[in-house]
Amino acid sequence: MGDRKITIAIDGYSSCGKSTIARAIASRLSYNYVDTGAMYRSVTLYALRNGLINGKMLDTDGLVDQLDAIHIEFSFNPESRVSEVLLNGENVEQLIRQMDVNDWVSQVSAVAEVRKKMVKLQQKMGQGKGIAMDGRDIGTDVFPDAELKIFMTADPDVRAKRRFDELETKKIPASLADVKANLLARDHEDMTRKESPLRKAHDAITLDNTHLSREQQLDFVYELAIGLIHKKKNAVAG
Ligand code: C5P
Repeated sequence: MGDRKITIAIDGYSSCGKSTIARAIASRLSYNYVDTGAMYRSVTLYALRNGLINGKMLDTDGLVDQLDAIHIEFSFNPESRVSEVLLNGENVEQLIRQMDVNDWVSQVSAVAEVRKKMVKLQQKMGQGKGIAMDGRDIGTDVFPDAELKIFMTADPDVRAKRRFDELETKKIPASLADVKANLLARDHEDMTRKESPLRKAHDAITLDNTHLSREQQLDFVYELAIGLIHKKKNAVAG
């Protein structure tokens, strides 16, 4: 029942494995999972494809003018068991992981109108609770009342190596040095932007996963989630 389900907000630095844990906890609890980074990445891909990024400049006004033409939704792929992002009906799940999108996404996501549109969509997707969502502002702006908020962090070298390995598996070309530089630059831009900067919500629990396996992280989040779900059930019953 909706009133017994909780909202799980997972925020943190780039390449901390937020989406891996958010997806895994959603699957364990039979909740929905939403990768909000994929939404900002899709808007960035649209901008790149439509001449809104020329050389070193993002045409912010042009992007804002075209926002109504950008439709983002998710479609569940039963083979990979992953909700994949669609940009105007096209599955762009792989294309949005390319380095050119990485290079521009923080600038695109700093645009107030872009954030407003994405946050509205995210809030709609999480209306019925029973959702795990990962991003940068989920616990602070999208769902400030989320029952469980996790703030993920890890050593930058460990993060760079993990992202590099992931890109290699997907056969996306990149060097380890470039990957590290990109994630540090994105962290900096995400933390210093005016609109909903990346910060830990006052009631978020920090999860530093530098030395933790995926299973250990999942168990940590699962125990917290189960505790809160039981508390909610008892409150409903009582
Ligand atoms: O999570 P991911 O690395 O895919 O996110 C890509 C970028 O999208 C981030 O570096 C950040 O600039 C932006 N983002 C954001 N707010 C979110 C999710 C992602 O600004 N909720």
